Amino acid sequence: MTFEELGIESRLLKAITEMGFEKPMPVQEQVLPVLLAEDTDLVGLAQTGTGKTAAFGLPAIQRLDTGNPSTEVLILSPTRELCLQIAKDLKQYSKYVEDCSVVAVYGGASIEVQKKELKNGAKIIVATPGRIHDMIRRRYVDLSQVKVVVLDEADEMLDMGFKDDLDAILEQTPDTKNTWLFSATMPDEVARIAKGYMNNPQEITVGTRNSGAQNVRHCYYLVQAKDRYLALKRIADFNPNIYAIIFCRTRTETQEVATALIRDGYNADALHGDLSQPQRDHVMNRFRCKNLQMLVATDVAARGLDVSNLTHVINYNLPDEIEVYTHRSGRTGRADKTGISIAIVNLREKHKIKKIEAMIKKKFEQLPIPTGMEVCQKQFFNMIHRVEHVDVNYDEINPFIGEVVKQLEWMDKEELIRRFVSIEFNRFLEYYRNAPDLNVKEKEERKAIEKKAKNTVHDDSGMARLMINLGYKDKIQPQRLIGMINDRCRDTKIKIGKIDISELFTYIDVDGNYANDIIEAFHGETYRGRPIIMQAAKSKRKDKDEARKSYQEHKKTQGRSYNDAKPRNDRRNDRKAEKRDRDSRKKRRR
Ligand code: ADP
Ligand code: MG
Repeated sequence: MTFEELGIESRLLKAITEMGFEKPMPVQEQVLPVLLAEDTDLVGLAQTGTGKTAAFGLPAIQRLDTGNPSTEVLILSPTRELCLQIAKDLKQYSKYVEDCSVVAVYGGASIEVQKKELKNGAKIIVATPGRIHDMIRRRYVDLSQVKVVVLDEADEMLDMGFKDDLDAILEQTPDTKNTWLFSATMPDEVARIAKGYMNNPQEITVGTRNSGAQNVRHCYYLVQAKDRYLALKRIADFNPNIYAIIFCRTRTETQEVATALIRDGYNADALHGDLSQPQRDHVMNRFRCKNLQMLVATDVAARGLDVSNLTHVINYNLPDEIEVYTHRSGRTGRADKTGISIAIVNLREKHKIKKIEAMIKKKFEQLPIPTGMEVCQKQFFNMIHRVEHVDVNYDEINPFIGEVVKQLEWMDKEELIRRFVSIEFNRFLEYYRNAPDLNVKEKEERKAIEKKAKNTVHDDSGMARLMINLGYKDKIQPQRLIGMINDRCRDTKIKIGKIDISELFTYIDVDGNYANDIIEAFHGETYRGRPIIMQAAKSKRKDKDEARKSYQEHKKTQGRSYNDAKPRNDRRNDRKAEKRDRDSRKKRRR
């Protein structure tokens, strides 16, 4: 099928041909004939990167009655970035259509300027729900003649709490309009709410629901939680031409990872909601034109960002809701290119991989983390490749060449190569010379965890006593310990009883059913650079001895760790934690 056969008119054909659209993508093939010919509500479910924008954008433009100035199409999307992207796409499609004005309306920019743009006439408005709702309240916008409403990334809009805005906005549109809803995933709850906006919608699903893009390889690396950042660095170093989005769970984590990467000399930056709009635009532009290799981002900030040719999507942490994984991995493998989606997980998170596999109906490959030597080899040959392909500015260099050749005459060719390559290569060699193996030996680790959990004693009320090697000496407080447990066992609410803090260690009574989970969650973790011991309580004497030993051992090794990234990171976190403690102490005194 061609676009022409699907019913696209010539003015649009001309524009999309110029954009390089040769033949329709599957979702377009199914959706276009329906939306061009019928007045119907529609639900379109397809993976990210499958061409949904044109599937609704082309019919929306083609159905316009350009003889009058009223707004006929309203497209709602969750983020400003997505909004701008859709508006840009639509402007391109409608390049040869006269009087097809497309106006983008979104937060974080001057509302007065947008009001003026609307005044000049907007056949199509592309908007974020919050801002357009605001405009409606101020009576800057008239939606009474709207014929089509598009809800793009509807699940995300509802997730982001735009339900009230959507209700209010749709209230302003005529009952006779058609509603077209597009999304990559459709959790049941969202489906229920969304159905409330539509009458007998036709449903078109391309591919299996919630399945990942077909040309994406899903891989994971198994590491200890404390080695996450080091693993990320290995992955980056092993892929010198990486062009990736790195997903983190929170804004703070996003900023921390980005800051660490930048400090360690990587071409990376952060994208999250704490940045100002100009900052976000700046980062995105640099990433789009590949001046940035790695974008560390939160899910919301990266949503809908259309960047093609990503080599990797990296889950620095898996998302709390596994459906989000589909969105993330959908950022790579777009438009017929293959991509790799990587998850960095610890033992405890492995079950999440199983859940995701069930959802996307695809298996993950477990990959070994490259050794230091493997990374060096890769970097070495990459440099040689660059030498072979570099552009040489002969005119500028030639005047000096004679003298230089004379100066280096005494070296043979091999020596010359060695030296030139070493200029950059030494950095890697030094870093990786004594690099530890980051791969988790799963069997051994499981055994170690079992050993820690052995002999957990449950009392009559079903509580079990655990020992952790943190105490007064660490200025640890009960709230902080509870916070640490909750943070690591996010998926369950665990009952915590008595907390008994001594100088070097603490006893914590927890719901016995979760004792093993907690022990596993703390396995391999560190506190201010020191390995945490969390295990079944033995006797006061034994526990104290063990805690003291861990202190002394840590002191001995301090200052000799092969990598400074984690400790520095820790130090910053420590300062933050100390400040928190100080603040809470102050508060209590008041
Ligand atoms: P989605 O909204 O489904 O995530 P987009 O509409 O953003 O996907 O499209 C993804 C990419 O594919 C965009 O860069 C778009 O320009 C491109 N694209 C869309 N349709 C076609 C087509 N028929 N031929 C070639 N490229 C296309
Ligand atoms: Mg889209």
